[in-house]
Amino acid sequence: MSRYSAFSLLRHALTGHRDWAPAWRDPEPQAHYDVVIVGGGGHGLATAFYLAKLHGVRRVAVLEKGWLGGGNTGRNTTIVRSNYLLDGNAPFYEKSLQLWEQLSQELNYNVMFSQRGVLNLAHSDTQMDTHARRGNSMRLNGIDAELLTREQVRAFCPELDLDNARFPIHGGLLQPRGGTARHDAVAWGLARGADRLGVDLIQNCEVTGIRRQGDRVAGVETTRGFIGAGKIGLAVAGNTSRLAAMAGLTLPIESHVLQAFVSEGLKPLVDHVVTFGAGHFYISQSDKGGLVFGGDLDGYNSYAQKGNLPTIEDVVAIGVSMLPCISRTRLLRHWGGVMDMTMDGSPIIGTTPVKGLYLNGGWCYGGFKATPGSGWVFAHTIAHDAPHPLNAALSLDRFRHGRTIDESGHGPQPNLH
Ligand SMILES: Cc1cc2nc3c(=O)[nH]c(=O)nc-3n(C[C@H](O)[C@H](O)[C@H](O)COP(=O)(O)OP(=O)(O)OC[C@H]3O[C@@H](n4cnc5c(N)ncnc54)[C@H](O)[C@@H]3O)c2cc1C
Repeated sequence: MSRYSAFSLLRHALTGHRDWAPAWRDPEPQAHYDVVIVGGGGHGLATAFYLAKLHGVRRVAVLEKGWLGGGNTGRNTTIVRSNYLLDGNAPFYEKSLQLWEQLSQELNYNVMFSQRGVLNLAHSDTQMDTHARRGNSMRLNGIDAELLTREQVRAFCPELDLDNARFPIHGGLLQPRGGTARHDAVAWGLARGADRLGVDLIQNCEVTGIRRQGDRVAGVETTRGFIGAGKIGLAVAGNTSRLAAMAGLTLPIESHVLQAFVSEGLKPLVDHVVTFGAGHFYISQSDKGGLVFGGDLDGYNSYAQKGNLPTIEDVVAIGVSMLPCISRTRLLRHWGGVMDMTMDGSPIIGTTPVKGLYLNGGWCYGGFKATPGSGWVFAHTIAHDAPHPLNAALSLDRFRHGRTIDESGHGPQPNLH
């Protein structure tokens, strides 16, 4: 497969762009693989890519029940940041951010990573204190953070309603290196990169069962027949509990719906990612001009990839109180994704009690930003049959031992994380 470059663009232009090779193959599944990854979202694809690239595991397949990137990877609001407080999270997400910074070069594919800055607003003195604490902790972990005063926020983002009677803005915490990436490009770039290294990407192949031989995995039953596997990695986000149940595991995960929204295209208005501090709302503007935003979960357990009208009203009301100038903007689309919400709001990446079965899930709202980091540590975990130090704290057995990583402090209440 040829490299993408300005020269190849020019060469293909001469033939009317009619002879580009497909970005990846469409292979038939083989009878047996060393590693089978279930789930062709960003995490599954990144895991396969790093398994082949860094650990020399070549007989790898990614099995996807639909199309690559059609799950939460293709449904999210694409915010990338590493502004975490707790030890188990901060170094892991920072590693992921560092991988984002080189991902387009590494994949020879433009994932449109845009470090436009992520600003968390504060609406009270207490919230300013909380942001100061988080910012200090980030800086101690070597992560960039700046506490902005109210006037600095005004200069940074003049369109905000700083004097809102109910939610006046006191200041904010900025992570300048945070930003957004193009979600489809991330899935496609990783897919192309994995395929180039010999990974079989098999779409329209649903895993319907996990076959065990004694205490270890033997392979997966699929809609395209049985596929043998030495090791199996689950990266199926909202379907994590379902897949784990096929291997006899019950997980501390609930599945909830989260919606995202896009407005009609506007001229440049929101240059950064901004989050509201007095409710749950986050917004950025896409390169096409649409405002991309979201809020809270719909509030009930579901596997349906669609949301409900009352949540739209709720999210839009918060948006307008933060940015009154968007009140007459028309909403273009909204959709839902199935979130794998854990009891402490942090992900699970590691081994399981079943030999040869590895788990990557529980991403709650925040797995897109973790895509490269998640694949990087999950590939290490699968290759070495043990976690990397960066994901050691994100183990499944932390719930048994009471070492939860509760970033938001909501306790065992998955819908609140
Ligand atoms: C509305 C919304 C907004 C979000 N916003 C953000 C954000 O701004 N920033 C952020 O960091 N995160 C965000 N997230 C979370 C983020 O999108 C996810 O955590 C992340 O994309 C998960 O990636 P994944 O590869 O694990 O899952 P997915 O992309 O969902 O991939 C899992 C794949 O597994 C497949 N699968 C499931 N069951 C089977 C089976 N039995 N056999 C074969 N394949 C199967 C699915 O079809 C799917 O393609 C958001 C999510 C949503 C829904």
